[in-house]
Amino acid sequence: MPGTLYLVATPIGNREDITLRALRVLRECTVVAAEDTRRTGQLLQHFGIRKPMVSYFRFNEARRSAEILGRLRAGETVALVTDAGTPGISDPGERVVSEAIAAGLRVEAVPGPCALVAALTASGLPTGSFHFSGFLPFKSGQRSRRLDALLSMPGTLCVYESPHRVGRLLEELATRAPGRRVVVARELTKRFEEFLRGPARDVSAELQRRPRKGEFVVMVEPAGEDAPEAGAGRGDAGGPDVSEGPPGQA
Ligand code: SAM
Repeated sequence: MPGTLYLVATPIGNREDITLRALRVLRECTVVAAEDTRRTGQLLQHFGIRKPMVSYFRFNEARRSAEILGRLRAGETVALVTDAGTPGISDPGERVVSEAIAAGLRVEAVPGPCALVAALTASGLPTGSFHFSGFLPFKSGQRSRRLDALLSMPGTLCVYESPHRVGRLLEELATRAPGRRVVVARELTKRFEEFLRGPARDVSAELQRRPRKGEFVVMVEPAGEDAPEAGAGRGDAGGPDVSEGPPGQA
């Protein structure tokens, strides 16, 4: 009997967010395929799990996929994890999943933390329709074209951004979509979790008061009828709305 490839979501900050099923699969699998074996080793150690690991990251995906398929055919159970969150979402995973499916092998998701879902659901922006685009290109021309295309799509726009470029992104949004509400989710599930909400210009000014670090999801309300201009009808006296996470987080 061939084995199963499990895609195991792991915490994006707060280790309490690991699921019971994730722990069981990690305990019972034959091998863990990890984006960074050192980081995953620390997570496993925290939960008292000892397991052989192989690395599976962006630059060895092709070779490792073939190896993982070989293991699955031989009846092994493989748990794929990334450094944080859900494998395959702006993280390695897509390749081995599509190859396993093409080979007729079983793939199962073990759902759990995902920065996109955590950010969007707590953003206060429409969740019924949204467009997620991972990280934007950083070269100017490609980035402008991509951003313009994304801003014209229906639904809430969600992107991941690095601490080095989040300021630049807010300036770009202030120019391209000055009237739309923007929400920046920072350090989700961690001690300094906060949501900054408001027009891009105000959120940008607020963010400049913070140290240039952290992890960010940036969201923009949809254009059009469903999206009143920022502040309209919300009793918004201007300036960003800042909300901090509950105390006691890791
Ligand atoms: N696979 C992951 C997931 O399911 O969310 C995403 C991995 S991607 C390489 C890392 C990016 O996700 C970060 O640069 C940031 O944009 C976002 N991210 C991850 N953890 C986050 C957190 N705790 N708070 C805010 N954003 C986070």
